[in-house]
Amino acid sequence: MNITFPHLGNTYIAAKVLFDALDVEYTIPPISTKKTLEIGCLHSPDDICLPFKIMIGNYIESIEKGADTVLITGSCGPCRFGEYCELQKKVLMSLGRQINFIVIDEPSKIGIKEFLNRLSSVAKDSRLSIYKKIKALNMALKAINLIDEIEKECRFFAGYEKNKGEFSKLLKDVKREAIESKGAEGTLKVLENYKDKVDRIEIDNFKTPIKIGIIGEIYTIIDSLSNLYIEDILMNLGVSTKRTLYPSWWVKNTALSALKINRSPIYKEAKHYLGMCIGGHAQECVGEAMLNYKMRFDGLIQIFPVGCMPEIVSKAILPDIEKRYNIPILSLVVDEMTGEAGYYTRIEAFLDLIEGRKRMCI
Ligand code: SF4
Repeated sequence: MNITFPHLGNTYIAAKVLFDALDVEYTIPPISTKKTLEIGCLHSPDDICLPFKIMIGNYIESIEKGADTVLITGSCGPCRFGEYCELQKKVLMSLGRQINFIVIDEPSKIGIKEFLNRLSSVAKDSRLSIYKKIKALNMALKAINLIDEIEKECRFFAGYEKNKGEFSKLLKDVKREAIESKGAEGTLKVLENYKDKVDRIEIDNFKTPIKIGIIGEIYTIIDSLSNLYIEDILMNLGVSTKRTLYPSWWVKNTALSALKINRSPIYKEAKHYLGMCIGGHAQECVGEAMLNYKMRFDGLIQIFPVGCMPEIVSKAILPDIEKRYNIPILSLVVDEMTGEAGYYTRIEAFLDLIEGRKRMCI
């Protein structure tokens, strides 16, 4: 068995740690590029959402390198994500690929026994003891928490850095070194070193950069290819950005929800507008908009793919938040046809607007 998985932010680093520690065969898909998207679009239904297409591109690129099993998380929720696995299997079968899928669904949806069965099938080729397998899982969790924490700090403090470009360089370096490192221990050592380094970068607390909250559909806000590298662009412009939806957040949120002890303030803040899950992360989008307003962010950028049902609902709610709480919100809808020039012009115009508002307040 040679396992692969779709890219989602920094998960490939945690996956490397997990599979290295388990000593099983795996293939990390090449970092998503326009070619990945082209491959995905060629083989996906036209009107399916963008994440599906990029994932298909990831699978095909991995299969060409020898992968024969796909590991993904599932969702029984009401949006299309609940159908991804079945549809993706069909797409790959129509291409003559007999690929096995391991779908990690929430224990509350498939039962704890089935959940454990599926988890153990990931490690079925590993000869390690149960204790060592659990240790491998812990190491992967540690890795995802570390790399997400490093990225969060880099993205936020980029607006305060004394020497321009330090956080951006560090972020690129840590990802490159982590993936080039040998073994699970080696990767964790790289991440721990960089966690120290990021804390030592000099910042200027007297700076007052524009602060933007990134909200919207989880895949498109995490995956740089689908959001046309928006966080990197803002970082290079000296804008501080904050996003809550990282893979490490997803792991924690899913575990706490399964145990019915999730007390995240996001849901409390969203309740007035959206009191129930309608699929995707619409509730989180609305709740985060409110939290970012309370944290005095200067503006919000919502990103979601064309046709994303849950985010269309949150997009309808955001204008009320914008008006009532006087916080500018820009909604960007993306797909494979999104033109870079128009996209960047909208972001620049939005930043100009915020800068003007900040000047008026001085
Ligand atoms: S949340 Fe939106 S983009 Fe993601 S699967 Fe559901 S409909 Fe598609």
